[in-house]
Amino acid sequence: MQICQECIRRYGGIPKGFEEGTQCYICNNAFTKIDQLVDLFLNETSKYEFFTFLIGSSFPEQKVELDSSILSEQFPKGRSLKHHFNSLLGMKLEKLTGKTVDFKSPELAFKINMENFSTELEIKPLYVAGRYLKLKRGIPQSPWIHPNVNESLSVSEFIGIPITKNFEGKDYNFFASGREDVDVLMLGNGRPFYVEVLKPTKRNSNLEKIADEIRDFSQGAIEVIGLHISKQEEVEKMKEEVHDKLYEVSIEFEKPIENLELKLENIKNLEILQRTPNRVLRSRSDLVRRKLIYSIELVDYKHPQAKIKIKASSGTYIKEFIHGDNGRTTPSLSSILGVNIKIDYLNVLEVN
Ligand SMILES: [Zn+2]
Repeated sequence: MQICQECIRRYGGIPKGFEEGTQCYICNNAFTKIDQLVDLFLNETSKYEFFTFLIGSSFPEQKVELDSSILSEQFPKGRSLKHHFNSLLGMKLEKLTGKTVDFKSPELAFKINMENFSTELEIKPLYVAGRYLKLKRGIPQSPWIHPNVNESLSVSEFIGIPITKNFEGKDYNFFASGREDVDVLMLGNGRPFYVEVLKPTKRNSNLEKIADEIRDFSQGAIEVIGLHISKQEEVEKMKEEVHDKLYEVSIEFEKPIENLELKLENIKNLEILQRTPNRVLRSRSDLVRRKLIYSIELVDYKHPQAKIKIKASSGTYIKEFIHGDNGRTTPSLSSILGVNIKIDYLNVLEVN
């Protein structure tokens, strides 16, 4: 049985029962196909901008088994067929393209099946992260399920569409750390989000220009700050993070409240129980959540109107905390003050 020079080189010798030749029984002359694969790679990747890549290859099972038994029995210091093949091709491509092999998070993965000599190019997503402000009411965070002509685009579309267009992606996914209601503004330092751009053709773009485009596209309703290219590990973390929030609420009392400032100041680290609000029952399971109201500050009170700031733990339903949701949230501001309360508007000031 014959073995090629490249296989002899990676073993560091000729295995028993083999002789050097041009019809390699072990690799099926895989190494003679490297130049052809280089051309395929250059062809398939030509329309994509990228800086890092990874080569993956598969060989017939029976050859892989033969290779590993030769290695373990005769050449324990040798390199495996797959390893040697991937690194030879990788190094050649690094030299030719100036790009780098990245084992952890490559932007492209080029997969070669040596059994039928087919290849597959996988374009990894690109992540753009930042924080968004919502400066107009009436905008949902996710697209309407049944859009009407008069309904606004969503925060995710106002942000996701310009980003995807600039990186020439196929599609995108939008993730945010929590959400505000359609009629609630997101102010202050904004809410963390990221956009996953699928199959991006470009990896570089002017992020300040994109931020301007988002503002223009939404007619000033959405602003993004701190826009940056992120990594998968970073955005994965965002999904697990919980944030305390500071809200500003304008409310109306049914009757005048004495010593309102003091009464609000006394509400510190108050534990409340919230049963899933009636208004979201259709999309969320009905259960009781334990939340914390850290503090409430009176900003302004001229009966019947008051403006207050509430600091609360992640996921608190603030509207329901204020009016009580027919007893589904206990205690509520309404039950503590013994008065019915109407909400004029609600803004999120800080997401910590
Ligand atoms: Zn060989």
